[in-house]
Amino acid sequence: DSLYEDIETQEFNIFNLEKNIGRENILPLIGYYIFKTFNMNETIKYNKFEKWCQKISDGYVRKNYYHNDLHAADVTQTCFLYFKLGQIEEIHKFSNSNRCSLFFSCICHDYRHPGVNNNFLKETHNELSIRYNDESILENMHISSAFNLIFNDKECYIFEGVDNNLMKEMRKEMISCVLATDMAFHNFYVELIKQYIKENKEENNTESKDKNQKYMNILIHSADISNPTKLFDIYFEWAKLVVEEFWDQGDKEKKLHLPCSCDREKVTIYQSQLGFINFIEIPYFSLLAELYPKMHFFYENLLNNKNILLSMQEKEKEKDKIKNGK
Ligand code: AMP
Ligand code: ZN
Repeated sequence: DSLYEDIETQEFNIFNLEKNIGRENILPLIGYYIFKTFNMNETIKYNKFEKWCQKISDGYVRKNYYHNDLHAADVTQTCFLYFKLGQIEEIHKFSNSNRCSLFFSCICHDYRHPGVNNNFLKETHNELSIRYNDESILENMHISSAFNLIFNDKECYIFEGVDNNLMKEMRKEMISCVLATDMAFHNFYVELIKQYIKENKEENNTESKDKNQKYMNILIHSADISNPTKLFDIYFEWAKLVVEEFWDQGDKEKKLHLPCSCDREKVTIYQSQLGFINFIEIPYFSLLAELYPKMHFFYENLLNNKNILLSMQEKEKEKDKIKNGK
């Protein structure tokens, strides 16, 4: 247990854990930890969940720089941090099955990701874009494939012994959570958080099933785009990986004579990350910090990371100037 004693803190470094316990054990281990912590055995049988976790982990494409099992484990652990450090349990009245649905969604939310984005699949008339009519192509594929395992592989039937109506409810929740990770809905969640902040101030906040689902969706989406809010060293590891995957897609686009979404000859890691931080992260996490005041430190990390990136970018520019003899 000492290998991951900091799993409930923001110091937790998944890259170090990987070196210690091996890549294939990461996602199942995080799965085991949340299962135990949240008493999920009240709803789900562990032996089925364990198998499902292993097979989901194996179905992630390891050669992807970013969209792989490590990212899934990171999103799951980050959502776990929100519960532990953001006092989500105290704020929301989630049921045991709500929690299962949310964390299972984190685990499988990018299952079998091919390492290129929805737009690329759409532009290349990939069979997935045809199957899903260009609507949340990847997200539909992730959750559909995850349920294919659940329903068609007896070892992975995580709903064994679960009441049929509850199973249907959890399936609906998981579909909603994973579809919510499509960045196309980002602005919808920005507006929704603004609305919830306002309602909470006016104290006319009514609890409802629908609202619980919306909060679950906000939590998974937040965890999914959370890497710039982590401690700098951890964040920068993710940044290198995400940009490498974007450049890779850019190479593929150039070969196919498609508009290049991220050109390795033109876009630096600093430009990519500062753009993402300024236009997506700061507006979003400032609101999230208002909705969940205990999570304000994530917003502070973000601002700190932005400053570090700016000074690294300056240093690079200086170095280039010297290299070019100016
Ligand atoms: P997902 O593909 O489910 O992981 O959705 C999250 C999306 O947010 C990614 O596909 C990226 O487009 C974007 N994203 C997350 N982290 C970063 C980052 N550090 N830099 C740029 N884009 C990011
Ligand atoms: Zn993701």
